[in-house]
Amino acid sequence: MMIIGITGGIGSGKTTVANFFKDLGIPIYIADVEAKQLMNTSPLVREELTALFGEEAFKNNELNRKWIASKVFNDKDLLEKLNQIVHPQVEKHFKTWTNHQEAPYIIYEAAILFENNAQDKCDYTILVTAPKNIKLKRLQKRDDSSLQEIEDRMDKQWKDSRKIELADFVITNIDLADTKAQVYQLHNKLLSLVKA
Ligand code: ATP
Repeated sequence: MMIIGITGGIGSGKTTVANFFKDLGIPIYIADVEAKQLMNTSPLVREELTALFGEEAFKNNELNRKWIASKVFNDKDLLEKLNQIVHPQVEKHFKTWTNHQEAPYIIYEAAILFENNAQDKCDYTILVTAPKNIKLKRLQKRDDSSLQEIEDRMDKQWKDSRKIELADFVITNIDLADTKAQVYQLHNKLLSLVKA
C-alpha cells in the first residue's frame, strides 16, 4: 500500500486538505486523533501514563488532556517520555489499519511528521502551507486563543522553510477552490505513481 504523509503547521489547513482527498475516496489516518483515542482506550497506555504522570493523568475516567499538555509544554524530557509510550502503540494500530484498507493509496496525517522522521514510513510526503498572517487569523477564529498563545504553539514547530526542503509536494492553501484544484491534480499524479 502506498503511504502518503500529510503535514503542515497549525492553521495551515492539513485537515482541510486531507478531507479533499477523503472526498476522492482516499482513506485518511489522523495520527493525533488515533493517539488521543488510544490514550483513552488502551489499558497498557493508561497504566504507563499513570505511572509517568500520576493519578491526575485521568479525570472522571477520561484522559486529562489539558493538564497533560500543560505539563509537557515546557518539559522536553517529559514530552519525549509521553511519546515513547504513545507512539509505538499508534504505529502498531496504523499498520493494522493500513492492512485493512482497499484503495490505491492512503493518507497519514500528522501535525508532527518530519520532526519525528515519520517521512521514513511514507512513500511520499505533502506539506500544506499558508502565509503566517492567514494562519494566525484562522486559528484566532477557530480556537478563540490569544495571538501570543498561538505564536507560542507555532514556535514549537519547525519552520515551513525547513519542511519544504524535505517534502515531495507542497500545497499552498489560501483560496479553498484553488486548494481543491491542487488536490485533484496531485491525486492524479499520485495515481500515476501507484501504477509506475
Ligand atoms: P491544526 O493543526 O491546528 O489542527 P490544520 O492544519 O489541520 O490545523 P485546519 O483545521 O484544516 O488546519 O484549518 C484551520 C482552520 O482554518 C479551520 O477552521 C478551517 O476551517 C480553516 N481553513 C482552512 N483552510 C482554509 C481556507 N483555504 N480558507 C478559509 N478557511 C480555511
